[in-house]
Amino acid sequence: MHEFALTDDLLKLARDEAERAGLARIDKIIVRIGGLSGVFPDSIEFAFEFLKRENEVTADAELVIEKIPGCAKCSNCGKVFELDRLFLFCPECEIPTLEIIDGRDFLLVSIEGEEKSEGGVKASLEAGDENG
Ligand SMILES: [Zn+2]
Repeated sequence: MHEFALTDDLLKLARDEAERAGLARIDKIIVRIGGLSGVFPDSIEFAFEFLKRENEVTADAELVIEKIPGCAKCSNCGKVFELDRLFLFCPECEIPTLEIIDGRDFLLVSIEGEEKSEGGVKASLEAGDENG
């Protein structure tokens, strides 16, 4: 399942971005998954929940997925239409003259998080022995 490797890369990238932006923790990671990217959103979600815990920066992060439908344009008749798989034939011309114009992305859109506190220690450790 290559989604694990992709998600691992995504989390690393998000942590790099957080480091650059001065974020101590990431609350939200927004990604875009195109319908023609070959990436399954459900698998990414599954891998994300598993892998985010490996690093405290992303441990509580929420994953938001923007699903972008595949979109192609026929270079013969100019027709633009959505498609959910890589099917390179124009429905009008029925010849393989398509140019994929959207839907192949799997990318990090943005991250949101908590800034590192300059002046002191923001987090406090609670010593308790609650159930659970
Ligand atoms: Zn066409």
